[in-house]
Amino acid sequence: MKKDPNPIVTNISKHPIKDFTKDRMMVIGEAAGVVTAFFYEGLLCGLCSADLAAKTIKSLIEMNSSFSQIELCNYEKELYHVLLNNYFANGEGSEYLFYNAGTHVKTLWSTYVKLINKDKQIRREIWEAYRMHDLENYDLKGTRRAGRLLFSMLPALTKVALGGKFIKAALM
Ligand SMILES: Cc1cc2nc3c(=O)[nH]c(=O)nc-3n(C[C@H](O)[C@H](O)[C@H](O)COP(=O)(O)OP(=O)(O)OC[C@H]3O[C@@H](n4cnc5c(N)ncnc54)[C@H](O)[C@@H]3O)c2cc1C
Repeated sequence: MKKDPNPIVTNISKHPIKDFTKDRMMVIGEAAGVVTAFFYEGLLCGLCSADLAAKTIKSLIEMNSSFSQIELCNYEKELYHVLLNNYFANGEGSEYLFYNAGTHVKTLWSTYVKLINKDKQIRREIWEAYRMHDLENYDLKGTRRAGRLLFSMLPALTKVALGGKFIKAALM
């Protein structure tokens, strides 16, 4: 194999990028950073963004548009409405909590596994979350309940250390 003399190296975002549109351009899927390691990774969110982009383009084609950024901004609006402000909050909150738990991360994971084994409703909600493809209407109540139960089962010291992070994760 030959080494490419001119490799293109750039930042690939694991989190949503700032602008999803420019004139005659829409960024979708992993390139747009609509990926979360904690919830469905990239496939479902990628498909969702592609679907929203297609809907925006379809109506613009019918209007004989020039596809300026202003005309494409409906895609961005819908992306926030359907995906980023709702379903995506699951992944963002979990990611923030588990990646920032420091020395408490093992306790956090083992308590979460205990909770899943103990609580039938959580098992059901995880199953439903993976089958739920109507992201716009995804109900975050189950996730919040899981967060509250997880926190209640933690040892006192971990509760003190991670209390603030749980609150921040719940507000994401
Ligand atoms: C090992 C692995 C396991 C994964 N497991 C899961 C999983 O279990 N569940 C899940 O939801 N997600 C998973 N993912 C993530 C998921 O595969 C991606 O998030 C998803 O495929 C992203 O889709 P995309 O269409 O945005 O990008 P891609 O699938 O990366 O598609 C981009 C396409 O653009 C092409 N391309 C790039 N540059 C150019 C160019 N200049 N001109 C023309 N074409 C170009 C590429 O060849 C590629 O075909 C996994 C990823 C990996 C690597």
